[in-house]
Amino acid sequence: MSKNFAAATKERQNRQLPNIRVLNREELAKLMAQLGEPAYRASQLHRWLYSHQALDFDEMTTFGKQLRQKLATSWTIRPASLASAESETLEASPALAPPTAKFLIRLEDGELVESVLIPSEERMTACISSQVGCPLRCSFCATGNMGFRRDLAASEITDQVFLLDAEARKRHERGLSNIVFMGMGEPLLNLDNVFESIATLTEAEYRFSISEKKITISTVGLPAEMERIARSGLKTKLAVSLHSADQSTRERLMPVAIDHPLDRLTEAISSWNALVGQPVTLVYMLLEGINDSPEDARKLVRFAKRVLCKINLIDYNSIVNLRFKPGYSDVKNKLIQQLLDAGLHVTVRKSQGAAINAACGQLATSHRRK
Ligand code: SF4
Repeated sequence: MSKNFAAATKERQNRQLPNIRVLNREELAKLMAQLGEPAYRASQLHRWLYSHQALDFDEMTTFGKQLRQKLATSWTIRPASLASAESETLEASPALAPPTAKFLIRLEDGELVESVLIPSEERMTACISSQVGCPLRCSFCATGNMGFRRDLAASEITDQVFLLDAEARKRHERGLSNIVFMGMGEPLLNLDNVFESIATLTEAEYRFSISEKKITISTVGLPAEMERIARSGLKTKLAVSLHSADQSTRERLMPVAIDHPLDRLTEAISSWNALVGQPVTLVYMLLEGINDSPEDARKLVRFAKRVLCKINLIDYNSIVNLRFKPGYSDVKNKLIQQLLDAGLHVTVRKSQGAAINAACGQLATSHRRK
C-alpha cells in the first residue's frame, strides 16, 4: 500500500470517528475512567490537547502505546482551522494604528465564525465568537440578521484564541495580551462553554495562558446570567451593550430588552459592582437621529449615575445595515461634553476594522450570501 493511500485511508476512517475536542473536562475524565485509567490521566489528556495542542494521539508520549491506540481507535483530534483572512490597509486603519485583521474560522461541521485581531501599541486583542449566528436579532447587527445556528463548544472558542495568537506572533512578533468576547453571538447564552474555555485559557503553565483580568465578556445585558458570572468568582471584565438609556428606543434596537427592562439591568449591574468590586463598561454605539440627542445624553447620564461604570462610545459601521448611520462628529462631541460635564468616565473608540466590516458578524454573513 502506498504512503498516500495509507494516509487517505486513515483520513477516511478518521472522518467517521468523533472529535475528542468536543468533550469538556468532565467528559474527558469520564472517558478516561471508562478506559480504566486513573483520574490524573484526564488532566494529562487535557494538557496534551490544549497546552501542547497535539494533533495526533501518537504525540502523547506520557501515555503508553496501548492507551494511545485505544484513544485513536475511537476518536480523532480535529481543531478549528483558518478559512480566510482579510486585513485593513494601513491607510484605512484609524490614526494609522497597525491594521486590524479579520479571520473566518472553519469549524469541523463546516460552520463558519469570525474572529478579529486588533493590534495597538499597548495591546494585542483577539475578538472572538461564542455562537454561530445569534438568536437575539439586534436590529443593527449583521450577525443577528443571520439567525442562530448553534452554540460553540468550549474548544471551538479556545481554538479561535490559539489561531489568532499564532497569527499575531507571525504578523506582529508578539502574542495576544487581551481577549474580548465580542464577536458573533451572545456569550451569556452559551455560558457553560464560555466558562470552560476561560478555565482552559487561564490555566497556569499551559503554553497559552492569560490572566482572567485580561478577558472581557460582552453582553446585551442578561441580568440572571450577569449575576451568575459575578457569583462565580471570575475576575473577567464585563461590557454591557446599552446603546440607549430610553426603554422604547432600546427595545427597538435590541428586542431582548423587552424581557429585561432598564430597571432590572440597573439592579444586575449594581449587583455585579457589589460582588466583583469593579465597574462595568457601558458600550454606547452612536446612531444618527436615534440615540444621539441632548435628551438621549441626559437619559444616559441618569442611568450611568445609578451604577459604577465607564462609558465606551463607539462609532457604528454603516456598511452593516444602511437603515442606521453613525452619529455626526459635532453631535457626538456635544454628547461627549454632556457626559464629561456630569463627571462620567468616557472613552471614545473609533470602530477599528470598519474597512473590512470587522465590527460585527459581517464576514460570515457575506460568505454565506455568496
Ligand atoms: S449585537 Fe450581539 S447580541 Fe445582538 S444580535 Fe448581534 S451578536 Fe447577537
